[in-house]
Amino acid sequence: MYERTLWGSLWLPSQETLQVCHALLQDIEFFRLLVRIDKELAAEVRAGGCACGGVLHCGNFPRKPKGCPAEVRSEFEWRFSFCCNRCRCRATPVSVRFLGQRGYLGLTMVLVSSQPAAQTAAAGRLSTTLDVPVRTVQRWRQWWRQQLPLTAFWQVASARFMPPVATEQIPASLLERFVGNAGDVLLRLLVFLTPLTIGTIALSEGC
Ligand SMILES: [Zn+2]
Repeated sequence: MYERTLWGSLWLPSQETLQVCHALLQDIEFFRLLVRIDKELAAEVRAGGCACGGVLHCGNFPRKPKGCPAEVRSEFEWRFSFCCNRCRCRATPVSVRFLGQRGYLGLTMVLVSSQPAAQTAAAGRLSTTLDVPVRTVQRWRQWWRQQLPLTAFWQVASARFMPPVATEQIPASLLERFVGNAGDVLLRLLVFLTPLTIGTIALSEGC
């Protein structure tokens, strides 16, 4: 399958790197794994019930996933969320599928943003394949490198990395801190980022 060494060159432009990215983005099992994890995370929240003692009922948000394989698309058309039957409060579990509030998936935001900006031709190819407008990619990069480091989440979570993560290279510099094959690395990063998925993430993905 995917070799760790391929990820090692993620921020060093290579055709090989792009092939790995493409492979993962077309790996149906990887997408299904993300769905299973989100379902487990949602089940935990639901089982916990509402703080008021009420029961949580399904109140999912519709999503129009972009860059998602057709075989699993229907599984990405909902962001799991619940509503309390008593106080009407909403409880939205963290997610490894959705990082922002709109259609692009977390893994797309990570992989496309990891492409070196200098490698415009190859980066352009990947974002074109995934139908991500260049301006959206630029906005993502700006968010990773300028806004993420300012979040309360990052202030605490980044302390676990020594030496410190180079913020000007996020998310590529963050990816290299996780070990395993390409799927493991990406999954661990998505799990690491999940606390951000229930806050008011200051990221506009619109185009
Ligand atoms: Zn309640």
